[in-house]
Amino acid sequence: MPAQVTKLPRVAVLGGGITGLVAAYRLRELTAANEIPLETILLESSDRVGGALETICDNGYVIENGADAILTEKPAVLRLVKRLGLEDKLITTQERFRRSYVARRGRLVPIPDGFSLIAPTVLGPVIHSELFSPLGKLRILAEPLIPRRRRREDESLAAFVRRRLGQQVLERIAQPLAGGIYTGDPGTLSAAATIPRFVEMERVYGSVIRGLKAAARSNRAARQASGARWSLFVSFSSGITQLTDTLLKRISDSVRYRSQVTGIERQVPGEHPRRRLWRLRLEDELSVEADAIICTIPAYAAAPLLRPHDEHAAGLLDSIEYASSAVVNMAFREADLAGVPQSFGFVVPAIERRSIIAGSFSSFKYAGRAPSGMVLVRVFLGGELQKHMMLLDDDELITAAVEDFGALVGVRARPVFTRLRRWPRAMPQYSVGHLQRVTEIERSLERLPCFALAGAFLRGVGIPDCVQAGESAAETVFSQFQRNRAQY
Ligand SMILES: Cc1cc2nc3c(=O)[nH]c(=O)nc-3n(C[C@H](O)[C@H](O)[C@H](O)COP(=O)(O)OP(=O)(O)OC[C@H]3O[C@@H](n4cnc5c(N)ncnc54)[C@H](O)[C@@H]3O)c2cc1C
Repeated sequence: MPAQVTKLPRVAVLGGGITGLVAAYRLRELTAANEIPLETILLESSDRVGGALETICDNGYVIENGADAILTEKPAVLRLVKRLGLEDKLITTQERFRRSYVARRGRLVPIPDGFSLIAPTVLGPVIHSELFSPLGKLRILAEPLIPRRRRREDESLAAFVRRRLGQQVLERIAQPLAGGIYTGDPGTLSAAATIPRFVEMERVYGSVIRGLKAAARSNRAARQASGARWSLFVSFSSGITQLTDTLLKRISDSVRYRSQVTGIERQVPGEHPRRRLWRLRLEDELSVEADAIICTIPAYAAAPLLRPHDEHAAGLLDSIEYASSAVVNMAFREADLAGVPQSFGFVVPAIERRSIIAGSFSSFKYAGRAPSGMVLVRVFLGGELQKHMMLLDDDELITAAVEDFGALVGVRARPVFTRLRRWPRAMPQYSVGHLQRVTEIERSLERLPCFALAGAFLRGVGIPDCVQAGESAAETVFSQFQRNRAQY
């Protein structure tokens, strides 16, 4: 009689960023809802989870070092928030500050109302805007007349915007707004991967402006029908990590900190009845066995692990570049910021040749972010177009942030405190051809049994994309266990 194997199937989740946490939690949910018990181990190299989500609550301030907003248009997060019982902790942005600015010749000018990342939904505000010259405005108005591109292959974000809306829209608004999400260079970012909505609008409507108008009509109808509750962006009352902290609480017994995975080996099944398919090597000669792997660590960290198993996929993962950036949080006395634009913040186009790429009034954006009488602000530096900034030391970076912020908003006062957080190689760059590369990686890795790849470097850098990716990786692995349940 064959030996009775009683061990639980085990899934190793690599990486404790939002993608890995969600994957581990989803496995818990699936285990609870079905009759297949499963053991999950989450291996995180650092001594904290959350990755690019990091909140510090200190002295009445809620300081966001990384991500600070969740886009509500993509439903996966709101569904997760509901399942976690966190709905009453969600906060919307403050209506009365809901506008943004762009730096132009050393001053802040309003982004025209109805401007959606790279193009206007309504034309009136563009005509009255001081952001564009008369020729620039004519070029925008002419967009619906520009013929649709016949070729289907990918192009850069810059090429797309220049072709449809002209150089001024590219330099003065699309580069800092759309490129800014990726802290990337629009000249190398893929249009298909970073602004797919607009590429699709050109394909379907022959015009981005026509597409945006149609989308605005159907959004209005959908919002009215569903009685939508949330603003476009939301966060949580105690900061963005209320999400990751809650996930952590649900899976805390699975998490192993300071567990950097340095290699993965495939073991020969059947040689030993208790041997699992995968062995993960950690530092210090330690190892962990698992029946399945969900890999959510950055592409450059996943590539060497996969090289012995799939040279092609590893090479493609290695080719995904990452941008580095820094965030400086600073607090001012409210009285010292009396004249600043009452807004969410501003972006700074590269043509302005400043040291900072954006500034955000955190405590205008969300209530409860600073004690009464104080304003919390954050400033972004670095990215692909300003790589040299990351060579500065901490004091130099903070000084650049304080001085450029002060110059642009017209404030001489010094902040009461500053806090710098560097984000080295934190933002994947979706360069031209990215989607094809990702399809190839996924196709190639299909040959690896019980292995799933997910994370910001594949099909979306935003928190909702990562939630969706983590959940579907967990579901894929779980359904494999369901199919093979006789084995356990
Ligand atoms: C400054 C900044 C601001 C942002 N703002 C927003 C925002 O407002 N809204 C939004 O939606 N998105 C925002 N993003 C993007 C979003 O936060 C990230 O894309 C997302 O959090 C990435 O999650 P992830 O789990 O895929 O990867 P990560 O967060 O990078 O997590 C990967 C984890 O893997 C661990 N790891 C690495 N190597 C190993 C190894 N060998 N073994 C074990 N563990 C390892 C790392 O320590 C890390 O914890 C922002 C990103 C940054 C950097």
